[in-house]
Amino acid sequence: MKFGGTSVGDADRVANAIDIVAERRHLQPVVVVSALAGVTNDLVAAGEAARAQDPRRVKEIIEGVRQRHEDVALRLVQHKSDFLEAFIKQLDKQIEEIDTILRGIALLGEITLRARDKVMSIGERLSSVLFAYSMMMRALPGEYVAAEDVVITDDHFCGASPLMDDTRAAAQRALAPLLERNRIAVMGGFIGRTREGATTTLGRNGSDYSAAIVGAALGADEVQIWTDVDGLLTCDPRLVPSARVIDRLSFDEAAELAQFGAKLHPRTLEPAVEANISVRVLNTHNPASAGTLITRAGADASAGPRSIARKKNVAVVHVTSNRMLGAHGFLARLFAEFEALAISVDLIATSEVSVTVTVDEKQNLGALQQKLEQIAEQVEVIDSQCILAVVGQNLMSDARVGARVLEALRGMPVKMISLGRSGLNLSIVVDDANADAAVQTIHHALFEAPVAV
Ligand code: ASP
Ligand code: MG
Repeated sequence: MKFGGTSVGDADRVANAIDIVAERRHLQPVVVVSALAGVTNDLVAAGEAARAQDPRRVKEIIEGVRQRHEDVALRLVQHKSDFLEAFIKQLDKQIEEIDTILRGIALLGEITLRARDKVMSIGERLSSVLFAYSMMMRALPGEYVAAEDVVITDDHFCGASPLMDDTRAAAQRALAPLLERNRIAVMGGFIGRTREGATTTLGRNGSDYSAAIVGAALGADEVQIWTDVDGLLTCDPRLVPSARVIDRLSFDEAAELAQFGAKLHPRTLEPAVEANISVRVLNTHNPASAGTLITRAGADASAGPRSIARKKNVAVVHVTSNRMLGAHGFLARLFAEFEALAISVDLIATSEVSVTVTVDEKQNLGALQQKLEQIAEQVEVIDSQCILAVVGQNLMSDARVGARVLEALRGMPVKMISLGRSGLNLSIVVDDANADAAVQTIHHALFEAPVAV
């Protein structure tokens, strides 16, 4: 059971999350928590302030982080107890440790990725210690387990990947004995450790991923991602208030949606797919609702669209060249330039003499254009674009889907269309300025309009 930052953001939310865990004790859960909402950002800022040798700012941020955790603990118990005292002791110890690290960063005037991970990891360490002690204060068998003793990773600091064999062994060692005794292990998400013992993180918002890694390592029945919405929706509800919860999705469909900013870290599904463990997205504000269940098979065999998502701030790169005609190796040369600049490509469409791709707008597109102009006659880069993605199963098996989508876009200039992954994702690129309206009309056409036969 993973609880995100807003689900442990203050004393009421922590109490609510603990109730949700307590009600599911018979399922033998392991709890994975994010840092309290906003704390990771604070820690990043503290690291930056240390690097900039601004001790006053560092002190101010760290004191704020300490105070927030103490306040939550005090509000949860409302009277002195041994557990509270033990918690405050732990808190002070952790704060002392981060002070030392930040002083080291300030001395050097430099922050390495490795040091940044050490600093950021404090957020989850504190939240998990807090959650475990809060359970004990409520006479529940919560027990803090260091995430570093469970999740073993490679050494790509700030974006590490798990080493699953090591992690399985570590999870058996650290968690299985607790499960046997019906204790509820509480650990931080986001954090891991290399074989050599250095603290790593899995990349921002990585706690979902942690939960799936731990679930896979233990062979859990289900990974539950507890968040603040009823599950994955047919559309962003800020755009379409009538958006509905999707009750079932396949791993493939959910992975596509996660790429487009659904409330799920994009890598969460990798361990789940590998171990074939279902993932459920649930709402801490509405625990009775069934949420979205993500499994290998997904919804029943029926094909069709499940959701429409969008990704803003992309740029379209059009490359036209007659040298492509009948030649081989042109695409390899073209993409070598993207590779050299470490620019990753989202969508691709080609014709006989042109290639169109989308990339993230915030990349070094000036340099890319220059490079591409050396190998192609015409290169055009258009920014402020948006990818609309209709995600579902075998989208093209029903001709009405494509027809409805294009009909909904009538009168709107479309920069590119691509149907990737065997009908899983129909992507359309339009101007950012038109994107919201396009999402609304497509959602209406696919999910609200009565089905015409
Ligand atoms: N606390 C980390 C972050 O803010 C990880 C997470 O919340 O999932 O990125
Ligand atoms: Mg999060």
